[in-house]
Amino acid sequence: MVPNKNKRAAIIYFPGRVDLKKLRSAVESVTTVSFWEPSLWLKTEASDTGAQQALRAIAQKATHIVVAGGDGTVRSVLEAVALSGAKVTVGIVPVGTGNVLARNLGIPLEDIRTQVQRALLGNAHWLDMGLARIILEDDTRVEMMFAVMAGMGFDAKVMLNTDPVRKRKLGWIAYAESGFKQLPMIYQKLSIQVDGRESRTVRVLTLLIGNVGWLPGNLSMMPDASLDDGLLDVAVIGPRRIWDWIDFWTRVTVGNNVVRTTRAGRKLLDATANVKTLENLTSKKIRVRPEDLVELQIDGDAVGLIKEVEFESVPRAVSVRS
Ligand SMILES: [Mg+2]
Repeated sequence: MVPNKNKRAAIIYFPGRVDLKKLRSAVESVTTVSFWEPSLWLKTEASDTGAQQALRAIAQKATHIVVAGGDGTVRSVLEAVALSGAKVTVGIVPVGTGNVLARNLGIPLEDIRTQVQRALLGNAHWLDMGLARIILEDDTRVEMMFAVMAGMGFDAKVMLNTDPVRKRKLGWIAYAESGFKQLPMIYQKLSIQVDGRESRTVRVLTLLIGNVGWLPGNLSMMPDASLDDGLLDVAVIGPRRIWDWIDFWTRVTVGNNVVRTTRAGRKLLDATANVKTLENLTSKKIRVRPEDLVELQIDGDAVGLIKEVEFESVPRAVSVRS
């Protein structure tokens, strides 16, 4: 048999958290049988969290990137691939417990063989990403892309306060829990402008801008978010009183999983939604100007205090296999 000259896998992996032996055998069971070119194995470093590895893979003519890592590694790889414009597909082998993108793509969280098969042989489909144009506290401008969601205010502060081990062990949902116990509830005044329309000022605890909607534990603050509709979903969250919180938690759990599945339930939830609990919007572009400096997180990594940020959907940014 002649080697399959067209296909080459590059595996970008987070060394401490991957069972390399199992991963290798799963990859080889696909690439050897199909006579692919020899695979590239690129591990992430503390200073190089995936982007450089993705560019190296592209330079060495990889056609299929597999990223075995957590949300941060996945974000770095997807951003680099999206910006490169290279014709390469990305598959995800979820590691750790957050894995918000993998969950939303329906990738199984156990069973490395199935994960690898889907990453290499699954159907390729386009995925939107979010782009954040950020003005930092010191007026530096940075651009970052995200696959899952960005959060401002309380949500971002929780990311700063949760220690890495806990973050790794429990995933995103740990943040909320640790946050409620340790952090004072500070409500921020934000001026938000959606798709160039008139700005509106809201007082919120947190503002979430999502590319995907479902969080671990079947929680959703944006149940209608779709990965490929060219839109970002916005959740404006500002409960103040205990009954608002009860309403909020009911909405994100039972509300979206049970009530929302019927048309009447959906109507009821939408009609009673407002910023005192949870209000959902969709937009192509949303600009946020906080009255005071506010914390920002992107796919679970704290960015720091910012002066202003504009979020835009980048439709069909990357091709993903799942
Ligand atoms: Mg969308």
